[in-house]
Amino acid sequence: MRPDLLNPLFAEIEGLDGVGPKLKKPLERLGLARVRDVAYHLPERFVSRRAVPDLDAAGVGEQIVVALTVTEHRGSPSPRAPFRILAQDAIGNVIALTWFGKAAFSARKALPIGERRWVAGRLDQYGQMLQIVHPDHIAESSESATARQMEPIYRLAEGLTQPRIAGFAEQALARCPDLPEWIEPGVLDRAGWPAWREALAAAHREENAGARDRLAYDELLANALALLLVRADNRRRRGQALAGDGRLTDTLQLPFPLTGAQVRSVAEIAGDMAQESPMLRLLQGDVGAGKTVVALLSMLGAVESGAQAAMLAPTEILARQHYETLRRMAAPTGATVALLTGRDKGRQRESILMGLLDGTIDILVGTHAIFQDTVNYRNLGLVVIDEQHRFGVGQRLLLTQKGRRTPHVLAMTATPIPRTLVLAQYGEMDVSRLDELPPGRQPIDTRVVALDRLSDVVDGVARHLEAGAQAYWVCPMVRDEGENDDLAAAEARYASLKERFGDAVELVHGQLRPEEKDAAMERFASGRAKLLVATTVIEVGVDVPSSTLMVIEQAERFGLAQLHQLRGRVGRGTGKSTCLLLRGDALSEVGRERLALMRETQDGFRLAEEDLRLRGGGEILGTRQSGEEAFRIATLEQTSRMGQMAQDDARLLLERDGGLTGSRGAAARILLYLLERDWGVQLLRGG
Ligand code: ADP
Ligand code: MG
Repeated sequence: MRPDLLNPLFAEIEGLDGVGPKLKKPLERLGLARVRDVAYHLPERFVSRRAVPDLDAAGVGEQIVVALTVTEHRGSPSPRAPFRILAQDAIGNVIALTWFGKAAFSARKALPIGERRWVAGRLDQYGQMLQIVHPDHIAESSESATARQMEPIYRLAEGLTQPRIAGFAEQALARCPDLPEWIEPGVLDRAGWPAWREALAAAHREENAGARDRLAYDELLANALALLLVRADNRRRRGQALAGDGRLTDTLQLPFPLTGAQVRSVAEIAGDMAQESPMLRLLQGDVGAGKTVVALLSMLGAVESGAQAAMLAPTEILARQHYETLRRMAAPTGATVALLTGRDKGRQRESILMGLLDGTIDILVGTHAIFQDTVNYRNLGLVVIDEQHRFGVGQRLLLTQKGRRTPHVLAMTATPIPRTLVLAQYGEMDVSRLDELPPGRQPIDTRVVALDRLSDVVDGVARHLEAGAQAYWVCPMVRDEGENDDLAAAEARYASLKERFGDAVELVHGQLRPEEKDAAMERFASGRAKLLVATTVIEVGVDVPSSTLMVIEQAERFGLAQLHQLRGRVGRGTGKSTCLLLRGDALSEVGRERLALMRETQDGFRLAEEDLRLRGGGEILGTRQSGEEAFRIATLEQTSRMGQMAQDDARLLLERDGGLTGSRGAAARILLYLLERDWGVQLLRGG
């Protein structure tokens, strides 16, 4: 049960003044549903701003507020091209105000031609012209535009403004109670960190490294504690020793020999499964390293010893794809493979449930639906969790730890995580690494192309398709905006490519209904569609070997790890593959370096290390990329710097007070609920 102390923080966001039905949706898009979410919606950066009478008084690169009169709307907003509004200052200097994506629509409304507005933002130069890209504020009076010297800049969604969200944050902070300290006093002293409540307030008020570190540390500590609790519980449990006899695996007819790394991993897994104590093992292997076969061999091993195996995929698309692959590969062995997703209803579902119960189904593939309470197995011996890089693996682990006999667990990830981060993200799991790609893979020819050569790129795609190959086109992540804007960009690109390529183009994105998504993917995988336009939903695991061209728009907006994942969709067959990274015109130093690295190497582990390096280096407020990071508060850099410390702190606490019943233990429980790692608490007696 959640401690009452936390109730004000877990109250619905509507309790805040000014949050009505209209704002609920944009807030939700930012993941803000409760007061605590708003309190933890930390500024992405701060600007200190100077009010200037005109642009002559300001320097390029400076954060300013200036009064401007709107003179022209250049074209109309379109997700395809930047939208510019021209304006003049008091002495006639012309400046362009520029927007990308959907934000342009509200900008056009906020800046009617002929009107004077106070505009706040960073002054840039674009060719000969002065410009402000995505102004932070537009106000009708000078007071509201210049009120603050040091101003937090929050991530926004369509319909929200900076002052609005700053106001909500202020209210949320006012509702934060004082909480007992959960950090080891020695650690706290040495670091000189503020208490939780002050840290949160400071993080909203100013660029405060100590406050940020403390909040990140809280998250790392909570995660370490939760994983240790799961681990300790796992050690107390009994599983079943499953030693396969090779009866089924011997009949497999794989079209290739296993790589050395695959053989080694299969042996490590079999060794664990032959023990009675339940396995907790992580299989790390770059995209295309061949994790599926390893999973299949392990699952067949379980089936040989009379148990069942289940494979959990993060999305419907992936579940279906695994199902097809596994069924095909397992066919000669006679093992039965079934698929269960949230979409299966009625009789279909009933018959799968029956098969699981009476043991006629050996291997079940599916989404989280496979762990619902109503799903009962005759004898589940092994659970494989695929591609869990998004929210960490702990909660998924817990799903598997029910029942009398605990199944063995194999978690697989394609995200090459720097060694320094494995412990923080996965706790003390045993690790097998597939550090060798199957032979015969050709390197992917990676090129960086300026976005203004778009028509050449489209011609290149046309030649590629005419030659009978397939291609992916990944649409940009839109700055500062939510998923809907990514969607708008993808839809616009889809429309324009459809004009050229007709029915050969398919679109997939996260908001399609599962049936639609599957149908689109099906058309692409079967080769009926040639070009797949997508938001980043294709990031995880999709496998279409005949697709050998990948176009990634505004590639500089993606992190290295994510680019690497995306690029890994091609180069899967034996044909030569190409990856075109389209870059926008405002390329930062780090952006440039990132793209250069992509060209230089295809080693996922190296890219992960470099990603960490590029983000480190004194950047207090790391830019976050959706879906890429395991933690919501802690950046990669903080995780690598403080992860070990948090792990040690958590271990020490549990050694002294394994039931979390002492006073610091009680504080730690509060932390686990606060940061929603309370799945570990359920394992404690009286939790
Ligand atoms: P991932 O590790 O990304 O899940 P997959 O398991 O999907 O990779 O494998 C990628 C491709 O490589 C598949 O088409 C698979 O059949 C093939 N493959 C796997 N192992 C080998 C191998 N030892 N030799 C050749 N091809 C292999
Ligand atoms: Mg895979």
